[in-house]
Amino acid sequence: MTGGHGGVAAGAARRLTEEEKLRIGTEIQRRVGVKTSRDEPLARFTTMRVGGPADLFAVAHNLFELRGLARFARTRDLPVFLLGRGSDLVISDRGIGGLVIQVRAEGTRVAGSRITAEAGVQMARLATIAKDSGLSGVEFALAIPGTVGGAVWANAGAHGSDVRGVLAEASVISGADGTETVLDPAGLGLAYRDSRLKHRGEGFPDLVTWAAFDLVPADPAAISARLDEIRRWRRTHQPLGLPSAGSVFRNPDQGPSAGELIDRAGLKGRRVGGASVSQMHANFIVNDGHGTAADVRRLAALVRHEVAERFGVVLRPEVVFAGDWSGWEEGDA
Ligand SMILES: Cc1cc2nc3c(=O)[nH]c(=O)nc-3n(C[C@H](O)[C@H](O)[C@H](O)COP(=O)(O)OP(=O)(O)OC[C@H]3O[C@@H](n4cnc5c(N)ncnc54)[C@H](O)[C@@H]3O)c2cc1C
Repeated sequence: MTGGHGGVAAGAARRLTEEEKLRIGTEIQRRVGVKTSRDEPLARFTTMRVGGPADLFAVAHNLFELRGLARFARTRDLPVFLLGRGSDLVISDRGIGGLVIQVRAEGTRVAGSRITAEAGVQMARLATIAKDSGLSGVEFALAIPGTVGGAVWANAGAHGSDVRGVLAEASVISGADGTETVLDPAGLGLAYRDSRLKHRGEGFPDLVTWAAFDLVPADPAAISARLDEIRRWRRTHQPLGLPSAGSVFRNPDQGPSAGELIDRAGLKGRRVGGASVSQMHANFIVNDGHGTAADVRRLAALVRHEVAERFGVVLRPEVVFAGDWSGWEEGDA
């Protein structure tokens, strides 16, 4: 399996021994000044609320810590997995090997009609900052429960807009050589729910440190009205009260949406363990609180199989099956 692309296992790194966890954790604390925890359960850091432990887990509260952790990991050849708000992830019950870095660098700056946000800024906060600054263009970000870094990675979008439409540039630490470069949307390879970062393959991931968005001045009342509309739409169309990871499958290039196909196949309400296809939005799998990652993945595989049988359309996962999924085939979801 290759890492990184939506639906394909990412972070399937080798596991650290107990001795390595202790030694490397101590070294990170000493050299980078960041505390790590061992065997940290990851479910609570994801919106799906599933996932086993990270060998080592660290929170980067600012860009200094983020860059320090990335540099340290590179010099030690320590596998790294980047975690934003975990809103696009199904982390395996076995967890993730190596070091998981939760990106919480949350600085922002408004200059004229440009907002620059560090990678850990929540997209909903970006939408609010823009509204408060009388700037329009990122209202859609209210619908995305992830971070700026995760949104650039996915070219996240909603309500007819996406990151590509408003992003001026983003700064990325290359997984290949560790250098940090400012890239424009073309350099980032942004396309429908896709970016070059998704296709890094094995090894260190490309790491977004910050992104700048060029917006347009607008009437604050009009921006507020648009935000209200988006809020209302989400409440009536998405099962927001239950853990999920948003849309499970990408929409096919043509024809009915993934949700429509799943609905027409009569799969709403279908259940595996604690995971079920949402009654409200067929392309969401929700967790009743007792579901495991394996339940979610088995259900996704079942949905994929039934839609292929009924309509001859092979759905591709939008969510990332992250961590140690050894023993599972890509066709399993
Ligand atoms: C209820 C719900 C509704 C949603 N609606 C939408 C929607 O309308 N449109 C949409 O596009 N998405 C939607 N999503 C999916 C999700 O919110 C987005 O994909 C979001 O961009 C993920 O950001 P995150 O910070 O949570 O990333 P995570 O889930 O934490 O990570 C996703 C991937 O991004 C990588 N990553 C995270 N941070 C960085 C970084 N700084 N640099 C490089 N890589 C990084 C991770 O390693 C991982 O591979 C929804 C999810 C939920 C739960």
